[in-house]
Amino acid sequence: MVNLESSSSYALDHATASRDLVFETAEETTADRLALVSIHDVMPETLAKVTELLLMCRQSAVKRMTLLVVPGKEWAETDIAQLKAWADSGIQLAGHGWVHHCDRIQGLYHRLHSKLISRDVAEHLALDEAGIQRLLDNCADWFSKHQLPVPELYVPPAWALGSISLNALRECPFQMVETLAGVIDVNQQRLLRLPLTGYEADTLFRAVSVSSFNRINWLWSKTSGRPIRVSIHPNDHQLKLKRSLQRDLDRPINAIGYTSLRSLSR
Ligand SMILES: [Zn+2]
Repeated sequence: MVNLESSSSYALDHATASRDLVFETAEETTADRLALVSIHDVMPETLAKVTELLLMCRQSAVKRMTLLVVPGKEWAETDIAQLKAWADSGIQLAGHGWVHHCDRIQGLYHRLHSKLISRDVAEHLALDEAGIQRLLDNCADWFSKHQLPVPELYVPPAWALGSISLNALRECPFQMVETLAGVIDVNQQRLLRLPLTGYEADTLFRAVSVSSFNRINWLWSKTSGRPIRVSIHPNDHQLKLKRSLQRDLDRPINAIGYTSLRSLSR
């Protein structure tokens, strides 16, 4: 059973927009597929594209959104104000790494991960446990320092958590951590496995492999009834899977926030 959060509209407000764009939400129907819709890599340099994607989601009547924010970038005051406006309008913010980049790729696992999935963004894989803990602390501190709501959710870049134990994770400031496999409830030390779709495909190889991955995951969501994670990256609406993204947003999905996962019976 899922206890759905109350439906609310959320507003878009971008520095370049001349007026606020307020979401008109569709009625929730319990027959719809539950979905967790997130936009990754929210940074000063991606805010314009994030705004376009939020508009796209609004036009597809997606009611709940989560933005994955990368704190260790050059954030201007106007950028922070934009994040605050989004948060005030009901959009959830989540922590997403620190700089979203790693200079050194070490070890076979990291090299393979980098080649196949993450390129050079999986910054946790270059850190030891103490380094990952420091990163998580810094990430949470950044939100409170800027008077932004401290997120409950943390998503490591490329979903690569690296070498940190569940016990060590318990000391981190976040209640939920998302990995490739699903979402970890940090206090319960429990992983809820969840299907996942992505659309970041700038080559034909990626387009074909990500499409197959998505098909399997929609099927898993359908047969299991588990919420599907629809993960969007800032350029996805201009890349090879842009039509798949539009089609998936237009499906009869009922977008929920990550906190609703706590009410899911397992
Ligand atoms: Zn990312």
